[in-house]
Amino acid sequence: MREKMLNSFLEAIRFFSNATEEMTYLCDLSSQKVYFADRYAERFKVPPMDGMAYTLEELQGFMYARNGEKVSYKLESFENLKDGILHQEYHFIDKQGKKFKVHCTEKLQFDHMGNPMWIIGHVSNIATSQRVDPLTRLFNAQQLMEDLNECLEKKQSGFLVVLGIDNFKNINHKYGRNIGNRVLKNMADALDSLLDLSLRAYRLDSDKFAINGVGCTREVVEELYHNMQEKLADQCTLSSGVAKYHPDLGESTDEIYQHAENALDSAKKNGKNKLEFFSETIYEEMLNMIDFQEELKQSVANDFAGFSISYQPQIDNRTCEICGVEALLRYHSKRRGEIAPDEFIPILEQLELIITVGEWVLSNALRQCKIWRQTLPNLRVSVNLSFVQLRNSDVYGQTLNILDELGLPGNVLTLELTESIHLQDYRFFNKIFYKFGKQGVRIAIDDFGTGYSSLSYLKSIAIDEIKIDRCFVSGIHYSAYNYRLLGNIIELAQSAKIRVCCEGVETKAELKTLKELHPDILQGYLFGKPQTVEEFEKCYIHAEAEEYKKTRQQEAQYRLLEENLTEEGYAKYERMAASSLQHMRQTEMYKAILSETIAYAEVDLETRKILDCGGLWDNYQSENLMKDNNYDEILTFYKDELIYPEDIEIYCQFFDFDMDEKINETNKTKKLQYRRNIDGVMQWVEITAHIFSEQYSENVYALIYLKNIDAEKQQKLKQEAAAARDHLTGVYNRGAFEKEVKKHVFASGLDGESTLIMLDLDNFKMINDRYGHMEGDRVLMQLADVLKATFRKRDLIGRLGGDEFLVFLKDLTDREIILRRINEFRDAFAKVNSYESTCSMGITIVKPGNFSYEKCIRKVDIALYQSKEKGKDIYSYYEDEK
Ligand code: C2E
Ligand code: CA
Ligand code: CA
Repeated sequence: MREKMLNSFLEAIRFFSNATEEMTYLCDLSSQKVYFADRYAERFKVPPMDGMAYTLEELQGFMYARNGEKVSYKLESFENLKDGILHQEYHFIDKQGKKFKVHCTEKLQFDHMGNPMWIIGHVSNIATSQRVDPLTRLFNAQQLMEDLNECLEKKQSGFLVVLGIDNFKNINHKYGRNIGNRVLKNMADALDSLLDLSLRAYRLDSDKFAINGVGCTREVVEELYHNMQEKLADQCTLSSGVAKYHPDLGESTDEIYQHAENALDSAKKNGKNKLEFFSETIYEEMLNMIDFQEELKQSVANDFAGFSISYQPQIDNRTCEICGVEALLRYHSKRRGEIAPDEFIPILEQLELIITVGEWVLSNALRQCKIWRQTLPNLRVSVNLSFVQLRNSDVYGQTLNILDELGLPGNVLTLELTESIHLQDYRFFNKIFYKFGKQGVRIAIDDFGTGYSSLSYLKSIAIDEIKIDRCFVSGIHYSAYNYRLLGNIIELAQSAKIRVCCEGVETKAELKTLKELHPDILQGYLFGKPQTVEEFEKCYIHAEAEEYKKTRQQEAQYRLLEENLTEEGYAKYERMAASSLQHMRQTEMYKAILSETIAYAEVDLETRKILDCGGLWDNYQSENLMKDNNYDEILTFYKDELIYPEDIEIYCQFFDFDMDEKINETNKTKKLQYRRNIDGVMQWVEITAHIFSEQYSENVYALIYLKNIDAEKQQKLKQEAAAARDHLTGVYNRGAFEKEVKKHVFASGLDGESTLIMLDLDNFKMINDRYGHMEGDRVLMQLADVLKATFRKRDLIGRLGGDEFLVFLKDLTDREIILRRINEFRDAFAKVNSYESTCSMGITIVKPGNFSYEKCIRKVDIALYQSKEKGKDIYSYYEDEK
């Protein structure tokens, strides 16, 4: 009886094992034998069994290490199980000595007396059944993730290549799933044949595959992709997205996969059939950065190797003599050459190395200053301080120690701090600044005007100096606005006993203008670039050097400038209330004024008077227009001579400022582009009006300026025109045609009725099939040309797609005229084309009332369909139009 049951079970096992991927087995508890189907040994590459069965010992023999103990079947393991089912994982060793994992599901069976009889179970090899795609036999996504992970753990780098079959859905749809599956299999075969054993391929989902290009170069990846393209060229095209991976980048496998997917998406978006790397430059930069950080750490540890300090002179505006130097840190990398401070200082800050390096700068700069003070007894030194130093180190203690060691008084030192959001925590900073102040050390706010702070904080923070940023200084002689701004800042600062240093003085013209505003200190290339110790000493210490004499001569020249100062020039501008400057500065109009402006005017909107104007509008001052006219009258005075006729109206309207609306907003900008005569040529210009109100008087001003935008505008118009055209035929494309039709209908009010015609080539498919696409394209071009030649210039011609064209006859509904045109078209078309092509047409009248473009298209489409039904070369009107 027992024997019989066993046999019938074994038969069942055999049957199921052949039919499914899984393997069923039976463990007879009395004989301690485990029965498998025949395929077991072959499938799992273990030694063959004797009569379908292994003894438990045999089985333990090819199990990994002590895993075998599990097989000794303690019956207790089956107690208290949900459903009585036991899940076990075993590691086997195959004939080649390779470890592999199987998952077993087992159930204990009892005899009719209720005694345990045997265990039936089924085994699935996790590696083969769960990690392999059944269709292509490639590994699946899960395996990919594990492999990637392993690569990262082993510190390997490479590329993850994801490949997608373009338009796979269409292939499935058009040719059926069988063909689709065949393409997938061919893809897998192609991958198999191209990849050597070190690289694995995977199928991720439906039409997506991947290669783990471990150790590959970019070139190898590209070559692989091109080879794949070639192999599958007759079946499909491929897009590919590639992401680089590298253990130092610290990305997870998910992130790497995401990057490759992103690149694939982008490749598909950009037209398919191409390969894109996930913005590799960013990665290179990241790697490069990590590398550079390491280098900086080494340099600092290696006694600041590669670091040095340059010194830039600071000039006393009154005497035009040197009064100080700014110490500027330099870094020379053996491999990378000279690195800009703007590049390496943020890294030093990030690594907090700036604390050590900053202390090094401080002590070296002060030591150098001490030496130079033997010749220049009043020389001071400015050292830049990072917020990291202030927040995270005892920079105060350090400074005192260094000063002490060198025996220097505190007042030789100025600490420069960049204007930034940090400063808003001025309670914290004031405490430190106060302590420095007691030692005579000055605090300067660097890059003033570029940061987040406002002039008002000058009163609340204990600082001694502000350094006006270069962007306000450069070109100051061209900008009345910058001039005023600077004048007011200087006035305000000096009234608060704060020194002002103007940075970035590069030209004599700038210097001349600046001198009228009486800043305290000047700095910039005009006086000297940042210099090495030797260079500096030639100019300021060694009296016998050529450079020394030259520098003295220059100083004398600059002093002369001062003496020649008159009340002429910019000083004639009355100074505005300082409070209003604050938001004027925020408007950025100063920058606008500085560059590219060809005309400007400042207008008091209350009195409607022009306060100031220049550039192309300069002549309004001399022509006495400004005396009794309002600004809009002045600015439009020569409109007929200067402005392009079509633009005159909008140009004049531009000067209607709705004051109530404007006043309530801090600043408001209005812009208009129009054509204006410049040097005898009509050119595109942009006028900007910037409206702002002065805080105390609440007076409303407008700053109006003009820019020449002709070059950009022409370019843009060209691009726009190109974007609106169908590439092949040059007529409007679908979108542009729609836009133009709508534009006309809405502009024509309720009266104008127009006609829309849809045309379709009758034998286009035949031409394509028989003579090829090139010929098809040629016929489409001929058709478009004939349409253009037949209809009026003002009519709109567009290509809807394929061989369908649209013609919109503006304000024309007369059937007789239309028929005449259609016949003209037929004749002309018949003459040019060699395939006896004809067109079917649908026609509808377009009425502005209740207009819907979509409806019109539907109507012509229906009419066209009716024509086609009737035969070839026929036109029909949409039926409910009599
Ligand atoms: P900064 O403190 O505003 O330094 C002035 C910068 O303007 C310097 O650039 C200088 O070479 C440049 N400069 C001076 N006059 C002119 C001029 O007439 N025309 C032009 N175009 N540029 C001029 P540099 O040396 O590249 O320094 C850049 C920034 O790096 C500094 O700006 C400062 O913020 C920072 N820095 C430099 N050394 C240190 C340092 O030791 N510690 C800290 N924390 N930052 C530093
Ligand atoms: Ca500085
Ligand atoms: Ca600066």
